[in-house]
Amino acid sequence: MGIRAVVNAPNWSESHHRGEAKCRDTSLTPTRNRDVFFEDEALALDICNGTYDGRVCPRRTECLRVAMFNKENFGIWGGMNAKDRLDMRMRYPGMPERWIWHAPGETESPSNEETQWPAAS
Ligand code: SF4
Repeated sequence: MGIRAVVNAPNWSESHHRGEAKCRDTSLTPTRNRDVFFEDEALALDICNGTYDGRVCPRRTECLRVAMFNKENFGIWGGMNAKDRLDMRMRYPGMPERWIWHAPGETESPSNEETQWPAAS
């Protein structure tokens, strides 16, 4: 049995029109020898959601949806921890159109542009 991603990771680099994923910027993750996205949940959430430097990751919604489709059970993805992603999956089972990041209390949907992302293969 192998592990297979349902959705391949998109291009997270600065060459993407939506911009570079913040987790690629090593200046934001000063802790050496560990991956904060798996070992420092609070810092990783701050980086994703902009409380670290005032800028939300431009790839956050896309990142969340990749994690949701691929059932990523560990680490911070799309500005959510594993428990929050599981809660979302249980709340909206089989409803990927609802797997979009909303700030607590936020009800508006992101722009169509933000929710476009690679189709599941
Ligand atoms: S939202 Fe995703 S792509 Fe952006 S910094 Fe967080 S983990 Fe990286």
